[in-house]
Amino acid sequence: PSGSEPATKIVINLERLQQLPADKVGPLARYAAAIQSQRGDYNGKVLSIRAEDLRSLAIIYDMTPGELTDQLIDWGVLPPEARPAHRVD
Ligand code: C2E
Ligand code: C2E
Ligand code: C2E
Repeated sequence: PSGSEPATKIVINLERLQQLPADKVGPLARYAAAIQSQRGDYNGKVLSIRAEDLRSLAIIYDMTPGELTDQLIDWGVLPPEARPAHRVD
């Protein structure tokens, strides 16, 4: 949905990521692996990444950051709580 907002706290479920087909999650999986390598952080079940990284990944997936947030929740890579509550203005 075009009204979706980007996740504010991005904690990737690495076990779930490994279960998904590479043709879907390949770019995300490579990005996460690169961050793990740069940090030397190999043993976690989850990986916290920067909000800025979500914006870079959205460009790679040709989505808005909000749309990518929804996609990652649909895949189970982000928990549903990652979706910011919609404001009622
Ligand atoms: P939290 O942010 O809710 O993270 C809970 C647990 O998820 C962490 O427990 C850790 O086991 C895992 N986790 C989250 N992000 C990552 C990640 O990028 N890599 C890995 N390997 N594991 C991750 P932990 O380490 O015992 O930390 C407990 C709490 O301490 C965290 O809760 C957070 O509130 C704080 N904390 C730990 N490291 C940092 C940090 O670098 N920055 C900040 N601001 N808080 C941190
Ligand atoms: P860097 O960006 O120059 O960051 C150097 C160090 O500052 C990091 O070492 C980390 O200890 C700390 N740091 C920087 N920003 C944050 C932050 O938002 N939260 C926390 N908790 N710490 C922060 P570290 O972790 O060994 O990372 C080394 C280098 O690996 C980083 O150098 C950066 O170039 C890259 N890197 C690591 N994680 C990420 C990431 O999630 N996204 C991006 N884009 N690069 C990352
Ligand atoms: P966190 O460590 O709790 O940091 C929360 C926010 O504080 C970061 O959101 C960023 O806006 C700011 N921040 C923390 N440390 C630094 C820093 O050294 N330099 C700058 N310029 N800002 C800092 P952000 O960027 O969305 O990152 C979200 C989470 O991703 C961080 O939570 C941390 O768990 C992880 N992370 C991001 N970059 C790194 C990194 O280079 N190394 C490690 N180990 N973790 C990182």
